[in-house]
Amino acid sequence: MHGSKRLTRGTILTDNRHVRVRFAPSPTGKLHVGGARTAIYNWAFARANHGTFILRIDDTDPTRSTEENTQIILRAMRWLGLDWDEGPEVGGDFGPYRQTDRMQLYRDAAQRLWDEGKAYPCFCTPEKLAADKAAAEARHDPFQGYQRTCRDIDPAEAKRRIDAGEPYTLRIKVPLDRGDVVVHDAVHGDVTFNARELDDFIIFRSDGTPTYNFATVVDDAMMGITHVIRGDDHLSNTPRQIMVYEALGAPVPTFAHISMILGPDGKKLSKRHGATSVEEYRDAGYLSDAFVNYLALLGWSLDGETTIVPRDVLAREFSLDHVSKNPSTFDPKKLDAINQAYYLAMSDREFSERVLVPELRAAGLEPAEGDLAHDDAWYDLLSSILKPRTVVAPDVVEKARFLYQGNEVELDEKSVEKNLAKAGARGFVTAATEALEALGDDAWHADAINAALEALPEKLGVSKRKFFGAVRVAACGNQVSPPLGESLELLGRDCTLARLRRAEGIAAE
Ligand code: GLU
Repeated sequence: MHGSKRLTRGTILTDNRHVRVRFAPSPTGKLHVGGARTAIYNWAFARANHGTFILRIDDTDPTRSTEENTQIILRAMRWLGLDWDEGPEVGGDFGPYRQTDRMQLYRDAAQRLWDEGKAYPCFCTPEKLAADKAAAEARHDPFQGYQRTCRDIDPAEAKRRIDAGEPYTLRIKVPLDRGDVVVHDAVHGDVTFNARELDDFIIFRSDGTPTYNFATVVDDAMMGITHVIRGDDHLSNTPRQIMVYEALGAPVPTFAHISMILGPDGKKLSKRHGATSVEEYRDAGYLSDAFVNYLALLGWSLDGETTIVPRDVLAREFSLDHVSKNPSTFDPKKLDAINQAYYLAMSDREFSERVLVPELRAAGLEPAEGDLAHDDAWYDLLSSILKPRTVVAPDVVEKARFLYQGNEVELDEKSVEKNLAKAGARGFVTAATEALEALGDDAWHADAINAALEALPEKLGVSKRKFFGAVRVAACGNQVSPPLGESLELLGRDCTLARLRRAEGIAAE
């Protein structure tokens, strides 16, 4: 049998310490922030150690796993840029990579343990188990687990009952002298579990499906996983899993249980705190690089202070000894700051191509495909003023909209009230119009525009704030537009003058 042969000691790849790690999501929902961080750590650990990163779909819960969720997870992994070396779509020598395609391997492995006397059938009904537990509680027995009722049933007798159709589960036979189980955890250090708490747990249910603790270990052993990096909600499963490794005769991998992610209120991060799925962040316009950077810092740090850790640095420098055992707090403001930092690090051209133009196209301000309304220089100039004002990509749309409204710019009511409706505003607009009319088309650049307007407030005996407020609203429709000189340069001479003339008719005398 192909499967169980691989399980024998000595044929498993862990022996040569080539790092093999896996991310094993259950497709019972979308990929969430916590799962994404686990995936990132596994990926980065594999890359930093020139190892192999495996994606495995843990879909043994048929009632909650769906193909749709699997596809959503694969898409999210691709968006995150976490390329896997083995797994769905790419294949590999240790497949299949979906647990539902591996059922025969679990059956074979369980059969082998049964044949070797390391597992046994249990015929206890749920009622009997509940009664045993209640009795153990009543007599204050420190051992409250399964009472090993069927452990010593004669094999011939067991066979007779099975042949007669009696339902049974398969339990692992934990050696009575096993002693405490110590998990050597790369994050938490040695964690000791009292052997008294380990009962002969179920590895196969009566419906013929394997339990998580069994299937996972069979997979991890057969796939030669050297390091199991996962959420610390699984730490309590680990002693049981170690029992399975020992029964299979497979080397126990190194474990690294990473801490929980908390919301700002100190409770486990959940829907209540807002967006939790990777998709939601993608759709909100975060950059994949920035998102990965931020999640990586939730529990790991390069040197305790660096906040910008690009993907290639992460893939080179990630190590488990810099993973904290304390829970981390998801802070959307920090994510925003990192996203912004990634924009600022882009050239105007890059920002234009990756952020600005796609958003303008998506918003219908530019044609969905084909030629753009302006030349590269125009978008580069616009990028230079929008880049520092962009937290997430869609922010550019509202800030650029005034450039796409022709001569009849939409006037923001509040801005008009505060600026153009104030006494004297018409005179300011007129003065600006005259000064700008004197500038030819060739001189229509931000610097020249600023220079032409600069001296006017003093000449008119008015504050800069009032003067430029009126001109800004007249030309851009809004008092919170980007810097004026560049805005007018982008609008062009004809459009700017047309808007100013229109505003003269509206502004208060
Ligand atoms: N499918 C399990 C989960 O999503 C995997 C746990 C593990 O990594 O062992 O929690």
